[in-house]
Amino acid sequence: VKKDGIFAYEIYLEKDFGMLAERLKVCKPENRRLCIVTDSTVDQYYGDQVEEILASCAKEVTRFVFRAGEENKNLNTVQDLYEHLILHHFERKDMLVALGGGVVGDLAGFTAATYLRGVDFVQIPTTLLSQVDSSIGGKTGVDFNCYKNMVGAFHQPKLVYMNLSALKTLTDEQFACGMGEILKHGLIKDQGYYEWTICHRQEIMERSLEVLEEMISRSCEIKRDVVEKDPTEKGDRALLNFGHTLGHAIEKLKNFSLMHGQCVALGSLAASYLSMRRGQITEAELTAIKEANIAFGLPVSVEGVTPEEVVATTRSDKKMEAGKVKFILLNSIGDACIDRSVTDQEMEDAVKYLENIT
Ligand code: NAD
Ligand code: ZN
Repeated sequence: VKKDGIFAYEIYLEKDFGMLAERLKVCKPENRRLCIVTDSTVDQYYGDQVEEILASCAKEVTRFVFRAGEENKNLNTVQDLYEHLILHHFERKDMLVALGGGVVGDLAGFTAATYLRGVDFVQIPTTLLSQVDSSIGGKTGVDFNCYKNMVGAFHQPKLVYMNLSALKTLTDEQFACGMGEILKHGLIKDQGYYEWTICHRQEIMERSLEVLEEMISRSCEIKRDVVEKDPTEKGDRALLNFGHTLGHAIEKLKNFSLMHGQCVALGSLAASYLSMRRGQITEAELTAIKEANIAFGLPVSVEGVTPEEVVATTRSDKKMEAGKVKFILLNSIGDACIDRSVTDQEMEDAVKYLENIT
């Protein structure tokens, strides 16, 4: 990403951590303290390796590790991190390094946005979901009580460094979660890309580095283009919320026992169903979307929630305007639109569609 103003930062796709010190040079690490922020799982895989590299180029390096899991993306962990930073005499010119998935990136980014009214941070996203989605665009934040991403800030990283090989240690389920967002990118913006992902299913699932590189680049491009045009979500950035209105509601009702990407895949399928009902996509296209979920190990049905509950839960979603849900529908495959006319009944029917799929 190279542009004036807030988006003047680079996104690097690499096959290992070998270039990290080199890429970081623009941040002048020799003059700064760095704090690696990571979770317990990522720390075990990559903590030592990354710390060693950073120690070779920074003034000083510390590491803050919190227990992995969405349930720790909250203000308590932020508070622990503030304390860690104060203890290590972190100043305005020092920098945080988010090493991990979206949970780490959101939490470290929010802490960076608020500590001393804002310090720099860099993103080293290690999940597929964070590489194609959460590490780009500057949305940071934490959950508050039962509200997801309720407290947050826009804060852009200075640099994003992706190591594609790090994706090899993801579980199949976590890998599939990233595919939920990737299929979304194709569905809302690029039919050709959507079809390409389906054609390359085999290599993608085998995590071939060449195919991953092509896929992640394209998804990052789509995300970047949307975000650059509308950084603070006054308009088209909302298209990225395709699948998220119902998805977030399901995520919350299932008490986070289903992962974000899985819920997005469910929400996307439900929103596609509504698009079909309104005559905007065909039944065959809807079936293909369902089959794509299955092909990538994503869910197509949901149990243990009622359609009424799901719809009631969307009301606490932030994507409301004057009491109306800003629902994202497909005009066609590869083209999405914001729709404020979707009724509660339609949303209920969409969830019923998910319930009835076997
Ligand atoms: P996550 O960060 O919890 O990672 C999932 C699991 O994978 C964790 O247990 C983690 O420890 C583990 N993990 C991470 N990298 C690994 C690796 N390379 N090898 C093995 N295990 C690894 O979750 P996520 O799916 O990356 O992100 C979800 C979060 O991102 C949610 O909180 C969501 O709200 C947020 N999000 C933010 C944005 C944004 O724009 N800021 C966009 C989408 C999602
Ligand atoms: Zn998402």
